Amino acid sequence: MWTYTPPLRDMQFVMHDVLGAESGWREIPAFAELDAGTAGQVLEEAGKFASGILAPINSAADLQGCTWRDGTVTTPDGYREAYRAYVDGGWAGLPCEPEHGGQGLPLLLNAAFNEMLAAANHGWTMYPALLHGAFECLKAHGSEELKERYLRKIASGEWLVTMNLTEPQAGSDLALVRTKAEPAAQDSFRITGTKIFISGGDHDLTDNIVHLVLARLPDSPAGTRGLSLLLAPKVLPDGSRNRIRCDGIEKKMGIKGSATCVMSFEGATGWLVGEPHRGLAAMFVMMNSARLHVGLQGLGHLEMAQQNALVYAHERVQGRGSAIATHPAVRRTLWSLRALVEGERVIAYWTAQLLDEAHHHPDAQRRARADGLVGLLTPVVKAFFTENGHRGADEALQVWGGYGYVHEYGIEQTVRDSRIAMIYEGTNEIQAIDLLARKVLDDGGARLHALLAVLEEEADAAGQAPAIAEFAGALRAQTAAARAATAALLEGRGADAEWPLRVADDFLRGLGLTLLAWAWARSARAALPHAGDAWFDDKLRAARYGVQWLLPEAAWRWSRVHARGAQLPAAAPAGHP
Ligand SMILES: Cc1cc2nc3c(=O)[nH]c(=O)nc-3n(C[C@H](O)[C@H](O)[C@H](O)COP(=O)(O)OP(=O)(O)OC[C@H]3O[C@@H](n4cnc5c(N)ncnc54)[C@H](O)[C@@H]3O)c2cc1C
Repeated sequence: MWTYTPPLRDMQFVMHDVLGAESGWREIPAFAELDAGTAGQVLEEAGKFASGILAPINSAADLQGCTWRDGTVTTPDGYREAYRAYVDGGWAGLPCEPEHGGQGLPLLLNAAFNEMLAAANHGWTMYPALLHGAFECLKAHGSEELKERYLRKIASGEWLVTMNLTEPQAGSDLALVRTKAEPAAQDSFRITGTKIFISGGDHDLTDNIVHLVLARLPDSPAGTRGLSLLLAPKVLPDGSRNRIRCDGIEKKMGIKGSATCVMSFEGATGWLVGEPHRGLAAMFVMMNSARLHVGLQGLGHLEMAQQNALVYAHERVQGRGSAIATHPAVRRTLWSLRALVEGERVIAYWTAQLLDEAHHHPDAQRRARADGLVGLLTPVVKAFFTENGHRGADEALQVWGGYGYVHEYGIEQTVRDSRIAMIYEGTNEIQAIDLLARKVLDDGGARLHALLAVLEEEADAAGQAPAIAEFAGALRAQTAAARAATAALLEGRGADAEWPLRVADDFLRGLGLTLLAWAWARSARAALPHAGDAWFDDKLRAARYGVQWLLPEAAWRWSRVHARGAQLPAAAPAGHP
């Protein structure tokens, strides 16, 4: 009833027809041997893992949840076996370098894999979610000894990793972190403090858990510049237990198979990763890929919602013996979901392709250019996709009518599971501020103009083909609106410093929709040579639907960015004691 069919053909279409993945791989020595056929086989096997092993245990795990007893967490039935299959299949180290035991495959393939994992079982996916980011962080900033001890164990999936940032008083504002790290014997530190909401803080999937912890050294300056990153394993190298305890797990709205833990560090032994007081810089290595990963959760949920809604809408008969899929209101929902999924997949995979370029391209200029684009795209992918994922799942639920509200039909779990992605890994509000204040306005709009210039190249290309010339016009209108909004903010923010903060969310959605206009144009151009083939015609229909029915939201988003007169009252509503 609620099943996952990996959209392999759609994924291949985006990678190869739209993004020309193979020619990109040929430019990068690390991937030069990889061809579309081999990549296709990897995707096929990944799809079997997601649909055959993860999807079948998703619903039961939601009902069962995790259990905590005496500091120990037990995951739902089937999780351990699924994790064993994941490790045995070599999936853990898919994008990690072969010299550390990984498969050395591009992040582009890993993005498709992560989309499938999140679609099939978001709760389970939380356990290995940080594995690759932690691997990169340790590789870039760890001492030789830490690398020697931990990199292979992480790349193989033998040990899992957690990220310990949040404390009761320190959520979005990490300057408030209080956990302490005091120097101890042989370059080690003693860590003391409480961390909350730690995903996978304890579990029964691996014998050891490697905790990355943000803490303050005794001489640390105040604020985020005083934070250091430490590595503290559950089991120490001599085999003894570290002084780390899981004090409980949260009872929560969704992803119930994922243990969200309160962690106590009671003089726990840890080692510095990177330089003292530069912990956030070390953590940022994890951020771009971790935030792309969270955006892919939004996309995965949307894909799952749209493919199941489509099946149900064709089966359910209401109104003069017709399947509900024939009713315009339902058809509109189905096309909205389809158009969003198809556009977002292009943007997400492009971001992953740029990350590969930023990490591995032999030309330093290409690496720098790709890195700049990824910096802009990452907050959009994280916030725009997760909002669309949750709201899209909610819209899809309506297709089932009353059955949508019932657990066994599956969509209500998707609505609950998808909500968290708007909150963790930096809330969507924080992403919007990061995009507008730090990434767009701080350099006078230079990086944004570079992105818009790339999008405009597509408008030029689409404009050459009369059958899809409408996409060129729609895209140009958006890039012009993004430039105008940026110019207005740059000009006016001196007199009204709060203005960018008031409209950051509108700006992010405006840019997200602009990127969608680009993605639809690109997909339409890739599908056009095959016009007349039903599968490709559907791609053209989805892209056209997106431009006609979804893109109009951008106009009111940009107009809200410009609405300086619409002053927000200076204080929150009255009523606070
Ligand atoms: C299921 C789950 C798993 C998690 N996993 C982890 C994990 O593995 N590791 C970890 O360290 N943390 C984890 N977290 C914590 C998560 O990252 C935080 O909840 C998140 O960063 C927000 O912090 P907060 O909850 O304290 O909210 P707050 O920071 O108190 O924010 C509350 C509201 O105020 C808004 N707000 C705050 N500051 C600003 C501002 N400057 N401008 C505009 N709006 C603002 C926020 O956007 C939000 O809407 C997890 C949380 C959950 C629920």
